[in-house]
Amino acid sequence: MTDLVQNYLDRILAEHEPITEGVLADYIPELAAVDPTGFGLALSSSDGYVYRCGDADTEFTIQSVSKPFTYALALQKIGAPAVDARIGVEPTGEAFNEISVDDETKAPKNPMINAGAITAISLIPAATPDARFALIRDFFSACAGRPLEVDEAVYESERTAGSRNRAIAYMLDSFGVLDGDPDEVLDVYYRQCALKVTSTDLARMGATLARTGLNPMTGRRVIDPAVVRRTLSVMLTCGMYDAAGDWVSAVGMPAKSGVGGGIVAVLPGQLGIGVYSPRLGPKGNSVRGVRVCRSLSAQLGLHFLNVTRESRSTLRSVSDVGDGVRVYEVHGDLLFAGAEQVTRTAQRQHEEYTAAVFDVSRVDDINDAARTLLAGLAATLQTVGKHGFLVDPDGIVVPLDSPHRAAAYETVADAVAAAHTWLSTRPAAAVDD
Ligand code: GLN
Repeated sequence: MTDLVQNYLDRILAEHEPITEGVLADYIPELAAVDPTGFGLALSSSDGYVYRCGDADTEFTIQSVSKPFTYALALQKIGAPAVDARIGVEPTGEAFNEISVDDETKAPKNPMINAGAITAISLIPAATPDARFALIRDFFSACAGRPLEVDEAVYESERTAGSRNRAIAYMLDSFGVLDGDPDEVLDVYYRQCALKVTSTDLARMGATLARTGLNPMTGRRVIDPAVVRRTLSVMLTCGMYDAAGDWVSAVGMPAKSGVGGGIVAVLPGQLGIGVYSPRLGPKGNSVRGVRVCRSLSAQLGLHFLNVTRESRSTLRSVSDVGDGVRVYEVHGDLLFAGAEQVTRTAQRQHEEYTAAVFDVSRVDDINDAARTLLAGLAATLQTVGKHGFLVDPDGIVVPLDSPHRAAAYETVADAVAAAHTWLSTRPAAAVDD
């Protein structure tokens, strides 16, 4: 059987094959030696299935696609306050290798430009440069789900040609921003940038971010969700350098490009995408890579601000089942906005019923804010002499091992029966509200 999605992605790749605009990065001499026609696309679903198209298994150096991952590792290791003290989160609108810091704090403006990335490396706690690089490589490998290796030729090439980055590192050192010897930190930076990946690896690394830090292929939690949220935020605002605004408008996914020709893009909760095409535009982003991502986003509706359920109500139905008992059937995702709708409706209607049954057995997902609101709703109803009954067979609101489990019912029929019992036994004083 032909695979529909595979065919579709193959076709998108083929449509972009003829584009030959852009030039290879040559300020790192070894990068000018790669095959300019290489073109790969990989897309990982959130459960870890990867579609591979074209040269999806061709290796190239990760270069700046490394930056969000090292930033995540720094956040993971020393926490956001310590990282924030050294690296900002403001977009610069400048080129990736701009020699720039914040005028007042002297800290790099964000972790996606070289100054911020070099600082992030210096924040990773380790006794030696080798130990620091090992932490970085292990972390990247855990995100990709396979051990990644350094391209020694590219590493040597950048090390001997890197006056610009040396200038940045020494400037940071002079401002007291850098932790450690600038040459040692730079050496780790060059090794990190020379790690070899494929589009498939980038798709898997993206999927790990999409899954809030859980690698869907290995099942390992690699990054904390709060760290992922922060990392995706800076990818969204700063990941494509001075083309970030255009990218967010047209593609609408947190992403990061590198001068090796790679791009990783993430659709939170849904997809990780890896693209490779080494000819770069004036802003250092892969020309064909950007075009493919634009087409994927437009044709598959991947912009993260596409709102899928704009008119879908959290309340599936409201019905009166006699004797002043009203049943609210809730479905979908019960996050803050959904729980707000349920509590507001039940509060506004409280004079129309005496007992309310809330059926959450069809709720897919819930968060703490929604749980707190629902718990508060029961208490509020009591102050006006009403009673709420919860149908929660799967322990969505009241976990199955909770000591309060007796307050939850398995079926609507059970809850309605309990409501009738309550109505017939409640104190007379509460009868008239
Ligand atoms: N190693 C490269 C550099 O520092 C990475 C730049 C990039 O990919 N944008 O110049």
